[in-house]
Amino acid sequence: MITLADFHSEFQTVKEHMRDAVLDVLSSGNYILGPKVREFEDVSATRLGIPCALGVANGTDALLLALEALQIGKGDEVITTPFSFFATVECIVRVGAKPVFVDIEPDTYNLNPEQLEAAITDKTKAIIPVHLFGQCADMDPILEIAHRQNAFVIEDACQAFGADYKGTPAGAIGDVGCFSFYPTKNLGAFGDAGLLVTKHAEVYRRASQLRNHGSTERYIHWNVGVNSRLDEVQAAVLLVKLQVVDEWTKRRIAIADEYTQALSGIYQTPVVRPHGTHVYHQYSVRHPEREKVRAFLADMGIQTQVYYPVPLHLQPVFGSTWRVGDFPIAERVANEIFSIPVHPMLTAADVSEVIQALQEIAVDGP
Ligand SMILES: *Cc1c(COP(=O)(O)O)cnc(C)c1O
Repeated sequence: MITLADFHSEFQTVKEHMRDAVLDVLSSGNYILGPKVREFEDVSATRLGIPCALGVANGTDALLLALEALQIGKGDEVITTPFSFFATVECIVRVGAKPVFVDIEPDTYNLNPEQLEAAITDKTKAIIPVHLFGQCADMDPILEIAHRQNAFVIEDACQAFGADYKGTPAGAIGDVGCFSFYPTKNLGAFGDAGLLVTKHAEVYRRASQLRNHGSTERYIHWNVGVNSRLDEVQAAVLLVKLQVVDEWTKRRIAIADEYTQALSGIYQTPVVRPHGTHVYHQYSVRHPEREKVRAFLADMGIQTQVYYPVPLHLQPVFGSTWRVGDFPIAERVANEIFSIPVHPMLTAADVSEVIQALQEIAVDGP
């Protein structure tokens, strides 16, 4: 079976370091906002070249705290993409703001900056581009339009740790960057974990307060916040994973390059813009007969998954707020796209097997 992730093999490669790091925390007695969280925040800030980094409980909370720290809420509009994981829009609704969607580019599946201008109103307070599958959205035009409107740019960089845009790391391009370290992400914890980064000291100050019940001094509360601290054990895990993440990303890119060389022309393979690197959180291809291709691959023991089968604007929770046809590119992509295994533990033989299967079904016709 060739699976979409192989946590067991990944663990074997870091086991010794991991055992030491986790046992250090367990024996320290320091379990909440201890030195490992601080170290992970410092190392991440340095790596991303950004002054402030705040460990939080997960990527969803990073987005939520970003909006709250920017004081976005009722009466405000936040623009985002209809083609992402639900958390992207969920956090907008959670703070009481109104989500406004802009359709995606048909080749990168990222928010289309050319359609952004038309969605701006005087209520637009933020734009949340998502760096989908590990490639940055085209940030320059997005930043330019946001700047003109005095709106903030919050990057949903949950799938893009290690990617860059014109040399700037994903997450460090806009006003606030949000990362998830959910186990499947390129930098994955052994549980939930997240990070908020920002260049604005005041936003950092507010977010750090909100992360811990609106408090920075014990039992003194300046705000109604939440409990969304990064776990000390997960911070220790992430510090170990940081030592291998670049090597693993390189491997993902090498596998992806091999796939693209073999499969372009048969499938709509990922398009990499010259503006930056793609770190292939997912390697996603499109085919009009997706379900037949997926069934064949399943028979061959190759796991696939659809990210995402239902665009955000058509989620049942939104009732008839939006309709089929509102964002046609996102809808079409949602019907045709599927992801194949690209994790760093794949062997050369696995990669050949995946390629062969995909070529075979294409030749026989799905
Ligand atoms: C994973 C992910 C999130 C949410 O992160 P969690 O850590 O699971 O809360 C948000 N947005 C995108 C694009 C994601 O891929």
